[in-house]
Amino acid sequence: MKQEVIELDGAIGGGQVLRSALSLSMVTGRAFHIKQIRARRSRPGLLRQHLTAVMAAAEVCGATVCGAHLDSQALSFEPGEIRAGDFQFAIGTAGSCTLVLQTLLPALLQAPQSSRVTISGGTHNPLAPPTDFLSRSWLPLLRRMGGDVELELLRHGFVPAGGGEIEVRVQPSSLTRLDLCDRGDAISQHAWALTAGLTPNVAQRELNQVAKRLNWPPEALQQVAVDPARGPGNVLLLEYAFEHVTEVFSAFGQVSLRAEKVVDVAINQAIDWVRSGAAVAEHLADQLLLPMALAGGGTFTTPRMTDHLRSNIAVIERFLPVRIDCLEKGADLLRIEVLAS
Ligand code: ATP
Repeated sequence: MKQEVIELDGAIGGGQVLRSALSLSMVTGRAFHIKQIRARRSRPGLLRQHLTAVMAAAEVCGATVCGAHLDSQALSFEPGEIRAGDFQFAIGTAGSCTLVLQTLLPALLQAPQSSRVTISGGTHNPLAPPTDFLSRSWLPLLRRMGGDVELELLRHGFVPAGGGEIEVRVQPSSLTRLDLCDRGDAISQHAWALTAGLTPNVAQRELNQVAKRLNWPPEALQQVAVDPARGPGNVLLLEYAFEHVTEVFSAFGQVSLRAEKVVDVAINQAIDWVRSGAAVAEHLADQLLLPMALAGGGTFTTPRMTDHLRSNIAVIERFLPVRIDCLEKGADLLRIEVLAS
């Protein structure tokens, strides 16, 4: 018997509502219709990055799609069979490659054979996971859950030039539950200041600010000069490796923002997380939820509820037979539990 089409209201969040729906539709075989896509954003509807995610998802599972065009605020997606393959997707702008990749990964893990995917666009975008966040923080957790995925950064791509590229190899594998309620012991800390086509002074000032505010030693601080042709671009990354989790905080250079202020953005996020005692910070929280739901269970702690977490819970519960409970354990400590229902 044909199942009902799932009706979604995109106005509950941003692009993540659409991407999660695409991932979940592909793996469950359930069709969906979404209205008001990114309705509350300054430019509503599908941007290049979202459209690429839709077209890429459709290609991986042979979907029938209606409404897939730039600026579209409504979309219907009826998935077919997931297939493995050698896929290449070009966003065509500096839109985020990692967000397109995250849309496809759940389906590719369930494909009958291994796949290789290359995606070109932005690899280090504000308001999206930098490639380093995926390779150092999110993917190690996905691997711990059983996901066999290797990611390689082929070329950096910054906003506005884009032109970056990632390559990913995925082996069919099933996910198992993850329980991540504490970080374990601290292992190491590291800061990278990446610049492309900018004076080395920018990276040095950023690292000086890290040393001043966090008191990290010189051996924990590293400048990385990326091919100037890829610029201009600048990102500051702070890595905290703990026994059970590695977190990566990032901040992006902007024309009118002093280097020290850029660093303060990442440092303030990191300090907030360190103080909270939670296992994962804001971004990892919303990105862990979907793999955990596909695994049928898991737990983690995070400082607080966010719009991304709330809207992702709402979308996941529409597609999968899971319940997601959120329990406040303290002023800055929320325990999230994914339960099979
Ligand atoms: P919109 O413009 O509608 O917000 P979008 O598709 O660009 O759409 P969101 O829906 O906001 O994006 O989703 C962005 C995703 O990127 C979220 O999963 C969020 O956690 C993640 N993200 C944002 N900034 C970072 C960061 N600095 N590190 C890691 N992940 C990040």
